[in-house]
Amino acid sequence: MTTVRDNVDPAELAKFDSLAARWWDAEGDFKPLHEINPLRLDWIRQYVNLSGLRVADIGCGGGILTESMADAGATVTGIDMAEGPLSVARLHLHESGADVDYRRSTAEELAATEPGEYDVVTCLEMLEHVPDPARVIQSCVELVKPGGHVFFSTINRNPKSFVFAIVGAEYILNLLPRGTHEYEKFIRPSELESWARTSGLELRASIGMHYNPFTREYSLGSNLDVNYLMYYQRPSD
Ligand code: SAH
Repeated sequence: MTTVRDNVDPAELAKFDSLAARWWDAEGDFKPLHEINPLRLDWIRQYVNLSGLRVADIGCGGGILTESMADAGATVTGIDMAEGPLSVARLHLHESGADVDYRRSTAEELAATEPGEYDVVTCLEMLEHVPDPARVIQSCVELVKPGGHVFFSTINRNPKSFVFAIVGAEYILNLLPRGTHEYEKFIRPSELESWARTSGLELRASIGMHYNPFTREYSLGSNLDVNYLMYYQRPSD
């Protein structure tokens, strides 16, 4: 029997717990998240005006995306299963003055208690850290209202993504701590798309995210070979 809390990998949570204190250090272990945040937030806002909307941010970590969506006018619930990042996220609210409701929860658990209550669900850089990503996607669909919007991002699985996202990012450029990602857990866009379609979502847009090691800058572009984002809508009833 499955429960609303069993789609969790304790080793993954331990990794994020051990790094949590550095979450808001823009030059630290989570520097890539700080640098990509304006790009991904702008991409989301191209499709959805967040102002006044209810948003669930699944696997919110220390709250980089979460707070930025609250600043854009959304009422945001941020959930994560790791205590460390959540307490850092709550502490950061004192500094920033942002208004976010942080809770320790899985997507499955929130979907069981607040189904169909959200206009927007975001689940970024999280699916590659859970045992059963298809179930998280299903829960995101349950959380969003008919006609609502769902955004995912993750890392593709192919030889190029192995070289860029693991060897390059963790071992050569030291953009991320070693062991942050496991190649086997990366997700091809076709896999994400088939899980999303099975759950009843309709694909609206996708885009790749690229790092240029020479300029040290991130940009968005059509190539989904390594990091990518997908935007879906739940059909209206
Ligand atoms: N979404 C954030 C943080 C990504 S890091 C951002 O993009 O800025 C991935 C986060 O997912 C970590 O904080 C980790 O604790 C969380 N996570 C991993 N497994 C989870 C699960 N089963 N349920 C909820 N959160 C989870």
